[in-house]
Amino acid sequence: MINSNYKNSYYISQNAVSKPNFKGSSKDTSSNQANNEGLSSGAKWGIGLGLVALASVGVYLATKKKPDSKQVSEAIKHFSPAKNIDEAKNYAKKELGVEYVDDNLANLDMMNTVNEWIHKEKIYRKNETPNAVLFSKEERIDSPLGLIDEIEFNGNKFNCLKINVNFVEKFDDFLNQAYEHRLKQFIKKNDKNKYELINPEHSNYNLNKLIEKMNAHNEKSSYKEKMEIFNGISEAITYFNKIGKGEKATMSSFSHEDAFIHEIGHLLHSKKYKHYNDSAERKAIFKEFIDNKTHIAEEVSEYAKNSPLEFVAETYKKIRKGETLSDDVKKLYKEYDGPGGFPDEIPNIIYKEKPQNDKSWLIGAALLGSV
Ligand SMILES: [Zn+2]
Repeated sequence: MINSNYKNSYYISQNAVSKPNFKGSSKDTSSNQANNEGLSSGAKWGIGLGLVALASVGVYLATKKKPDSKQVSEAIKHFSPAKNIDEAKNYAKKELGVEYVDDNLANLDMMNTVNEWIHKEKIYRKNETPNAVLFSKEERIDSPLGLIDEIEFNGNKFNCLKINVNFVEKFDDFLNQAYEHRLKQFIKKNDKNKYELINPEHSNYNLNKLIEKMNAHNEKSSYKEKMEIFNGISEAITYFNKIGKGEKATMSSFSHEDAFIHEIGHLLHSKKYKHYNDSAERKAIFKEFIDNKTHIAEEVSEYAKNSPLEFVAETYKKIRKGETLSDDVKKLYKEYDGPGGFPDEIPNIIYKEKPQNDKSWLIGAALLGSV
């Protein structure tokens, strides 16, 4: 059992926007100080070096012939779900280097899904994926996933993906809660107790797909289906928020692995961003974000408004989905040392050979210049 004495823990959740969960806005640091200090020169150097590294990747990609892209895309396709829990655990340990913790709380469907996510991510990232998975029952049912980086266990350090079993077990409650608190202004339940749009003008492909999935959901729905609805609601909240402000908006696509990619964003970011730990400088940067940057963050998503860390994880997710970012968003992402989406050992050709209907793998080399 992993003890709870860990350094960092991040959760993605739907309702946290109104109550940021960081301690950065304490009153001992004024916003003026924050404005004057900004990022330290060290952090600026970090950004500079990051750009040099990205440029090198670009050169590498432009000159490298496609070596084993077929093998990689084959590997993505070839994930076979385990038939029982022991098999899933052994596969995780031997093939993915992942330790399961408290797996008695999980079911086979969840373990197979998590294994598949990590399997796909590992093809691209090798050692930059979580190497422990902890199943726990969290009070908040609107937080399906979290990340605890560098947790110590038996003398080893783990980057641990935390899976909230309560989200799965109380999914109906989650859906009702999301409907009551976040969607009701735009979506209603009709006389057949099915969700439908109040204003047909808000209709679009992704939103219709979400509503269809919310209506199709039943007690047999898989973990993937639940996660897909969660991620879809996340995009719908951002979409409706923009509409509510009278802005022109399009709803982003969504898939079951979006929240996982968000956590990968935290993991990669934690390796290069020195302000993950508590410090006066961190507090100043976080306060500056809340005071002056949330209007940029909300272009990305509602959730991105929570903190610089959530902004980076959400933006990383958008990059991985191949979405276009504004110059302001790109600039802020660079300021916070946001990770590139592109492991340098993978040639760009691979990203073009994405699995059908799987937008999260749509990453073009063209994006290299955009982050
Ligand atoms: Zn997060």
